[in-house]
Amino acid sequence: MMRILTGIQSSGKPHLGNILGAILPAIELSKKPGNESFLFIADLHTLTSLRDGEQIRSNTLSIAAAWLAFGFDTDKNYFYRQSKLAAYHTELMWYLNCITPFPMLANAHSFKDKSAQMAQVNAGLFTYPVLQAADILLYDAELIPVGKDQRQHIEMTRDIAGTFNRMAQKDIFVIPEAAINESVMTIPGVDGNKMSKSLNNYIDIFLPEKDLLKQIKKIESDSTPLEDPKDPATDITFKLFSLLASPEETAEMHANYIQGGYGYGHAKQALHEMMLRYFKDAREKFDFYINNPDVIEEKLAEGERKVEPIAKQTLGRAREHFKF
Ligand code: ATP
Ligand code: MG
Repeated sequence: MMRILTGIQSSGKPHLGNILGAILPAIELSKKPGNESFLFIADLHTLTSLRDGEQIRSNTLSIAAAWLAFGFDTDKNYFYRQSKLAAYHTELMWYLNCITPFPMLANAHSFKDKSAQMAQVNAGLFTYPVLQAADILLYDAELIPVGKDQRQHIEMTRDIAGTFNRMAQKDIFVIPEAAINESVMTIPGVDGNKMSKSLNNYIDIFLPEKDLLKQIKKIESDSTPLEDPKDPATDITFKLFSLLASPEETAEMHANYIQGGYGYGHAKQALHEMMLRYFKDAREKFDFYINNPDVIEEKLAEGERKVEPIAKQTLGRAREHFKF
């Protein structure tokens, strides 16, 4: 049996990067017989970038609806909000904070990238990887399906768990592995940077058709004139299209680009149609859940009840070491 864990922040709407980089691979793994998955909404992490309760609530519902729309089985698995188990997550985080070397956090890529884009850098952003380590270690998770941007954070979790185990001279924590699908690159946002909820450069595949098209039209492109050949290798629209398209469709689009006479506007229309087709079923289910928030709430509350004894037990092992 394998324990799998993935979290998504409620810092914005679930986007194509989250879906391809985390949600779909995690659901795939959760379906394997014998696997047991912990999927949670990392709403404590959200506070590093967003402090508006109404927005957090609305994002939480959208992210939960996305997991459900893609068929996550909440009976077999665990589905919960981090904030509802905050006492466990934050207490463990404190213990881990006190054994985490300062330079390890100071050198984190994600901290450097995010803090460079923020006017005011908060301490939460700095200790974010330690809370993430607590999220993982609290449930004895073995496998963490994440996008490439999270590779270093999982390494830190392994380091921190190893440090604790050596200090305690026994295996208090399970050392987790990252499951990174190499074929799914870091999905670019409309501006070419990593697609991120907090950068507001994302594509929300659950938007109504017209709004989705508007977002797609924001994808940046170079100024090659319509009649000239275009370089698919550097174009964001082409990249996103090829992530969803079959090899034949990608080859056809590639030919359109290099022959000229095919504009970025055409490519964006094609991407829009592709998204509506590819995500047809998920979009319908998403609409159902988002219009029935009570159903979402009930599933989360059930998951939170189910998961609590596990958190309590693991935290107890850490407390025991300190004779608390
Ligand atoms: P934020 O901007 O608030 O950090 P995010 O969009 O980066 O939000 P997270 O909640 O941090 O989303 O990440 C959730 C999961 O989605 C992680 O496993 C992460 O690796 C994956 N993910 C996020 N962005 C991308 C992306 N652009 N491409 C592939 N995977 C991604
Ligand atoms: Mg992120």
